[in-house]
Amino acid sequence: MDEREKNEIKTEAPEDPERCRRNLEKAIAAVRETLPGMTLLENEPMSRHSSFRIGGPVRAYAAPEDVSSLSHLCSILKEHHIAPMMLGNGTNILFPDEGLPELFIISTEKLQRMFLLGEDAIYAEAGVSLSKLASFAQQNGLAGLEFASGIPGSVGGGAIMNAGAYGGELKDAIESVVCLYVPDQRLYELSNEQCAFSYRTSLFKKMGGCLVLSVVFKLAKGDGEAISAKMRELNERRRDKQPLDLPSAGSAFKRPEGFYAAALIDECGLKGYTVGGAQVSEKHAGFVVNTGGATSHDVYELMMHVRSTVYEQKGVALEPEIILLPPDYRLEDFGPAVRGNRVSFVSAAEDDAPAQ
Ligand SMILES: Cc1cc2nc3c(=O)[nH]c(=O)nc-3n(C[C@H](O)[C@H](O)[C@H](O)COP(=O)(O)OP(=O)(O)OC[C@H]3O[C@@H](n4cnc5c(N)ncnc54)[C@H](O)[C@@H]3O)c2cc1C
Repeated sequence: MDEREKNEIKTEAPEDPERCRRNLEKAIAAVRETLPGMTLLENEPMSRHSSFRIGGPVRAYAAPEDVSSLSHLCSILKEHHIAPMMLGNGTNILFPDEGLPELFIISTEKLQRMFLLGEDAIYAEAGVSLSKLASFAQQNGLAGLEFASGIPGSVGGGAIMNAGAYGGELKDAIESVVCLYVPDQRLYELSNEQCAFSYRTSLFKKMGGCLVLSVVFKLAKGDGEAISAKMRELNERRRDKQPLDLPSAGSAFKRPEGFYAAALIDECGLKGYTVGGAQVSEKHAGFVVNTGGATSHDVYELMMHVRSTVYEQKGVALEPEIILLPPDYRLEDFGPAVRGNRVSFVSAAEDDAPAQ
C-alpha cells in the first residue's frame, strides 16, 4: 500500500451528514437486493454483540457467510461511499448508549473455516474464536497458542489488537495475514513483519480500512498432554484472578511502561469504585465491570475518574485499552470524555445520484 492509498482512507467528519445518511440508506437497499440471503439486521442494538452488554443500535449489522460475499458486500458499500466497521466477538469495545445511526457493521461471526496447513501451521478465518483455535492446535499436537485459549476474542480481533496474555502474544505465532483493504478493494497478504505488531496494536489498527479475513499461524510440534495441561493451568489462573462472572471488555487500560495498571489503580484505593452500574472490579482493579444496567457514560466517567486519580497520585497517565466508540470519544487531557457523536466515512465524495 503506498502513501497515496493510505491517505485515501483518512477518516474525516462528513461535510454533509444528510448526504451520508442517504448514501447509507441506498447502500442498505442495494445490499438487500444484491445479496438477499445475507444476514442483514437494521437498527441492531450493540448490547447484544458486546461482552460489556452495553450499546445502542447501529444502522446496519451484516454477517456474510464467506469471504466472497464479504468482498461483494464491501464493493457495494464502497460504491455508496460507506466505510464499514468490522466486528469480531465484541470483547474489546464500548459502544455508546445513543447508538451509531450512521454505522454499518460487518461481523465476522460466520467466517469459521479452520484447517491444518502441512504439519505445523493452521489457517483460520477471522471469525474463529481464539479458544477454538487454541483447542484445535492442542488436538493436533501444536504448541504456541496455549496463552490464547482464555482470551474471548476472535482471530481477526486478536490480530488487530495483537492480543496476548501470560507472556505470549499472537505476533509470536502469526506467520501471515490476509486482509481486504477498503479503499482499493484489493486483497493483500502481509507477512508477520509487515503487520508491524507491537504491544496491543498492529499496522491494521493504526491505519484503519483493513478488514482481516484470515490468518496463518506457524506453530511448534509439541506433546498434546503437556499443551493441554498448560492451557488448564493458565485458565485456572485467569478464573482465580479475573471477574469472569460479570460483563466487561477485559483490561480497561494498557500496561504503562514500567508499571502495572491494575496495581496503580489498586494502590490509589479505587477497587470497587462505582459510577452507576460500572465498577472497578473488586477482584481485579484492571477490569471495569458492568454490575447491571451500566451505561456507556457510566463507564466513560469511571475511566476518567480512574485516569485522573492515578495521574494525580502516581504521575502516570493511563491509556485505554478498550476501544471507545465513536472514534472521537477520547480520554485525553483529562477533559470531557465525550466530544460529539461523529462517525467516519471513507470520504465526503459526492454521490452521483440526485438528492431525494
Ligand atoms: C473477560 C475478558 C478477558 C480478556 N483477556 C484478554 C487478555 O488476556 N489479553 C488480551 O489481549 N485481551 C483480552 N481481552 C480483550 C479482547 O478479548 C481482545 O482484545 C481480543 O483480541 C478482541 O477480539 P474481538 O474479536 O472481540 O475484537 P472486537 O472487540 O470485536 O474488535 C476489536 C477491534 O478490532 C477490530 N476488528 C475486529 N475484527 C476485525 C477484523 N476481522 N478485521 C478488521 N478489524 C477487526 C474492531 O473493529 C475493533 O476495532 C479480554 C476481554 C475480556 C472480556
